[in-house]
Amino acid sequence: MLDQHPTSSNGPPARALVLFGPPGSGKGTQAKLLMQCLGIPQISTGDMLREHIQAGDTLGREISDRMHSGVLVADEMVNALVEERLAQPDCARGFILDGYPRTRQQAEQLCRWLIAHGIDELVIHLLVDYNSLITRLTGRRQCPSCGTLYNLYSKPPKNDEVCDLDGTKLVIRADDSATVIQERLDAYRHQTQPLIEYFREKRRRLLEIEAGSEPPQELVRKICRAIGDDARG
Ligand code: ADP
Repeated sequence: MLDQHPTSSNGPPARALVLFGPPGSGKGTQAKLLMQCLGIPQISTGDMLREHIQAGDTLGREISDRMHSGVLVADEMVNALVEERLAQPDCARGFILDGYPRTRQQAEQLCRWLIAHGIDELVIHLLVDYNSLITRLTGRRQCPSCGTLYNLYSKPPKNDEVCDLDGTKLVIRADDSATVIQERLDAYRHQTQPLIEYFREKRRRLLEIEAGSEPPQELVRKICRAIGDDARG
């Protein structure tokens, strides 16, 4: 990992928020809302990996099969991407990790990095029951042109499966098919969920929050309040 971080010398200390939860728990949605309200960047490893696939570069070609089948990408690749991203100046005041860490090796690497840079983190565990996860994942649609996300159950487009903003036919993300959803949930159960115990053992700050039924805007307000309470100690 890097020796130096361009941490700003002014303003409050940098804070790392780690959004943690199974596929479909709303990490991406919450990360975007938190980014708007806290003014710190969202770092989504899923988005970064998809960008490489779209660009068709060497990394993209190497990871595409694994991602499309719902299996985790190799730790070294993801760790390197995150390391590079955290060194960018916009992370100096803090950042929101979405989808990272997902394995013990990633968590160890992140903890070492945070300790080395003197940055405190708060892990926010989004709790959602299994049936809601399945509904959210199977109903998810995206506009391939502007990227707007919809859900056929909770946030349907006004007209049958076309984007409200530009009328483009919505698509299902490649890894949102039923078998791949199962694979992603299995990867979460076996490789990622055990990290909660790891965070507890290491006495990292952990906030567990029910995220199954509330509208996203309500939930983000609750999370912001909890972050504020936590920062005040
Ligand atoms: P979700 O949380 O709904 O599974 P993401 O966009 O976070 O969606 O991840 C999509 C896929 O990207 C994962 O199934 C996995 O293949 C890959 N991926 C994302 N983040 C990581 C990570 N930290 N480590 C390994 N693979 C990752």
